[in-house]
Amino acid sequence: MKDCIFCKIVRNEIPSYTIYEDDVVKAFLDISQGTPGHTLVIPKKHIANIFEYDPELAAQVFSRIPKIARAIKASNPDIKGMNIVNNNGQIAYQSVFHSHFHLVPRYTTHDDFA
Ligand code: ADP
Repeated sequence: MKDCIFCKIVRNEIPSYTIYEDDVVKAFLDISQGTPGHTLVIPKKHIANIFEYDPELAAQVFSRIPKIARAIKASNPDIKGMNIVNNNGQIAYQSVFHSHFHLVPRYTTHDDFA
């Protein structure tokens, strides 16, 4: 979608710190780091939110998340856990209307993410 900020990231029209990419998803650091390593996983195909997934795309995207989560965890021995958050709709605090999953590493330190 032309004016979607995450579609622009997929097309490399605006910069991102990409940590994983394949034909289906892109994973990049959130510009506002809830904790160090806070990552967004998005489908490359533009869909607004969870309500627009067909089963095939859902399976493709969701099946990649554990691998990306493990890679983030392996990057720092101080990561003890991780929140995976997905906001759907303005009332649910979604602010970018291209589906994305927040992977928020949790530390015994840096524990300031509410
Ligand atoms: P919220 O803003 O309430 O977290 P979302 O779940 O829609 O709502 O999250 C959108 C996320 O996209 C935010 O965490 C924001 O920091 C992030 N973001 C916005 N623009 C960029 C960008 N250019 N690069 C990386 N992350 C971005």
